[in-house]
Amino acid sequence: MFAKTSEVKVLRDPVHGYVHIDLQVIWDIVNSSWFQRLRRIRQLGGAYVVYHCAEHTRFSHSLGVYEIVRRMVTEVPDIVSALNEYDKVTIMLAGLLHDIGHGPYSHAFEAVTGTSHEEFTCRIIEENTEITKIIESSAKGLAKDVADVIRHKSKNPLLVQMISSQLDADRMDYLLRDAYFTGTKYGEFDLERILRTLRVVDGNRLVIKESGVYAVENYIMARYHMYWQIYYHPVARSFETILHLLFKRLRDLKSVSDPAIISLFKPVLTGKKISLKQYFMLDEYAFSYGFSRLCEHKDPIVRDFALRIRDRKLFAYSESNPANNRKLRHQLKKAGYNLEYYWSKDEVYQKPYEPYTDSRGDAVWVKKKDGTIVEMSNASNVVYSLVHGPVHDEFSVYYPKGVEQAK
Ligand code: ZN
Repeated sequence: MFAKTSEVKVLRDPVHGYVHIDLQVIWDIVNSSWFQRLRRIRQLGGAYVVYHCAEHTRFSHSLGVYEIVRRMVTEVPDIVSALNEYDKVTIMLAGLLHDIGHGPYSHAFEAVTGTSHEEFTCRIIEENTEITKIIESSAKGLAKDVADVIRHKSKNPLLVQMISSQLDADRMDYLLRDAYFTGTKYGEFDLERILRTLRVVDGNRLVIKESGVYAVENYIMARYHMYWQIYYHPVARSFETILHLLFKRLRDLKSVSDPAIISLFKPVLTGKKISLKQYFMLDEYAFSYGFSRLCEHKDPIVRDFALRIRDRKLFAYSESNPANNRKLRHQLKKAGYNLEYYWSKDEVYQKPYEPYTDSRGDAVWVKKKDGTIVEMSNASNVVYSLVHGPVHDEFSVYYPKGVEQAK
């Protein structure tokens, strides 16, 4: 039913060895301008200012998620028999396209604009773009079915679980990929073992065989470590804080005289709905160019923030508590800083696993030897302790370096 490519396309990948493509529709998507745009968006936002090799992109991650999904639908016997060809193509496309709506600096951009990348992802798939046309020409109605998987509305819950649950192809790829490109080892886990122990029950529910519990424990611990060592690294947060404050300043200024900057950042500054045509132009290459223009801006705060971003002159950080904050704010004021822009609070907390279905998707279910299905924290002491232990959180404040020493 779905056209094949004339030969299997193989793309070298440091995490998976090769990414294999033998469907024309997948190959056409990879070669579309929207998908190629992902080469211009880093996977990890500001983490590259801490881990200097974390320059990998949403492009490579998206291919990686597709490859894990492809292996699931061709190598995991229960999935092979639970899904028909249409469903298999749907989930491979959903894996490939799940992050197509990311903007520059990924999650930092969502905070700046108040938009969500999922919303843009579904618009790019459905709103008559090049992507929509490629998908619809392979099967009528398929674009909506792919978007439905991404918005958790698919008729088949198995498809949603495969790319958007607490044990899914998305997380499995980004942990391994981010660990590889940051050079940290915490994110590594046994993907082969997990794939080998995946099972489907009731025709549409993804579970792990009891003997796979240790591999899943390892994966959950990997997430825990990656969050605190990389995703929530305070120096990366410092970079993202300045990015946020720069846009706040630009918005507050109301008028930005440089015409190049007006056309570039306008969609982000006006608060109006961003069109897909505008969104396409928003990538990290364009933003970097914009920031270097802003290094010569007449407003000293804009200029300072742009220079800080360009030259990695980041804010210092320390623990947020009333006594420390009072002292720091006093010193900042004395040094002549405008506290609206040179003071920022940040609060992060993370549980690496939740024993129920939440916004992050379905919990992990384990099939015991006697056939009963239990939730992961009831099958693993390690996960039980994580779920019932205190939540790890961090409260920080960010401010220009040097003021702590001022008397
Ligand atoms: Zn992703």
